[in-house]
Amino acid sequence: MKEYDFLVLGSGISGLVFALQASKRGRVAVITKQSLNDCNTDYAQGGIAAVLDIKDSFEEHCEDTYIAGAELGKKEVIRRIITEGPRLIQYLIDIGTDFTKRNPSYDNRLENLSLTREGGHSHRRVAYYADSTGHQIMQALIRNCRENPNIDIYENHLAIDLITQHHVVQDLGFVPGISCWGAYVMDQATLKVHIFKARKTLLATGGAGQIYAHNTNPSVATGDGMAMARLAGARLANMEFVQFHPTAFWQPAGNGFLISEALRGEGAVLRLTDGSTFMENYHPLGNLAPRDIVSRAMDVEMKRRGARYCLLDATHIPAEKLKSHFRYIDSKLSKCGIDFTKDPIPV
Ligand SMILES: Cc1cc2nc3c(=O)[nH]c(=O)nc-3n(C[C@H](O)[C@H](O)[C@H](O)COP(=O)(O)OP(=O)(O)OC[C@H]3O[C@@H](n4cnc5c(N)ncnc54)[C@H](O)[C@@H]3O)c2cc1C
Repeated sequence: MKEYDFLVLGSGISGLVFALQASKRGRVAVITKQSLNDCNTDYAQGGIAAVLDIKDSFEEHCEDTYIAGAELGKKEVIRRIITEGPRLIQYLIDIGTDFTKRNPSYDNRLENLSLTREGGHSHRRVAYYADSTGHQIMQALIRNCRENPNIDIYENHLAIDLITQHHVVQDLGFVPGISCWGAYVMDQATLKVHIFKARKTLLATGGAGQIYAHNTNPSVATGDGMAMARLAGARLANMEFVQFHPTAFWQPAGNGFLISEALRGEGAVLRLTDGSTFMENYHPLGNLAPRDIVSRAMDVEMKRRGARYCLLDATHIPAEKLKSHFRYIDSKLSKCGIDFTKDPIPV
């Protein structure tokens, strides 16, 4: 048995930020089922939205978020997250995350961050590192965690169950006010199951995107944390809210990858296969409508025509700008024989 003050299940941004904070108060174990980088966070491309421009305001960001969430969000939660945004981006900078700057010769202060636009936002407010923001953040988090003597990292370790009353009390069903004393964790090299005991356990195991045949998530996104929590008696809420990103690269065999919304933020336009545009018929923000609206519009148009994909046209954007901002997408598309400075992208 291994004993820690804090047990963190998952090594994405939630798990590693918590681990760094918790390490100031005790010993931390981070459990992750593949390598540290295998997580949704590492796949994030476009960037992080926050109020960073003098002309922008928390009120407008809150309003945009509420509207983009079909007015279903809790206003106090939206406000809390949005007002924390600038401070948290500063935190990421302080631990060594690089963001693309307006003026590369100045430092990484918030005022010097280059900002792009994404769907549903009335301002440029997305801080980014080219088109691999998540990877850049992960590099900084991993570096800090590896250097921290209070954090032990267990890669290729699969959390299989939380240790709670339901392992002890067999007959009473779920016990209210349940406590968690740690987790059973399988070392995938030896297939041995170990007990990790901890005062506090954090479930940071991410989402369940892999339940869909076509998705842009890494293979680890299988909803394990939700299942473990449910088995321990937790109530799962809001499970119907799944984000569908409108533009994944289309290939006949599937295996698409995300084409960042920031590409539309920089002016790329959705077209039907006959070259006509359609988003202006669906929303005043056109190509930068909220994601659910763009996804549904594409679905309707494709079904109406029996088409298998739409086109994302960035060919009017200067090639130099495309290649410097969207390096990752450029290299992925090149491998598929597409030059997105000249050809529309099937999405
Ligand atoms: C392609 C793509 C692009 C995105 N772009 C953006 C963007 O530009 N901006 C933005 O804000 N958001 C973006 N997102 C969303 C964002 O990446 C996620 O919301 C965020 O990274 C979630 O972080 P997390 O720490 O909760 O989960 P994750 O980063 O997914 O981490 C979950 C961790 O749990 C581990 N795990 C799971 N099950 C177990 C288990 N049983 N045992 C041990 N470990 C386990 C996984 O291996 C992983 O390490 C994007 C997502 C994708 C897929």
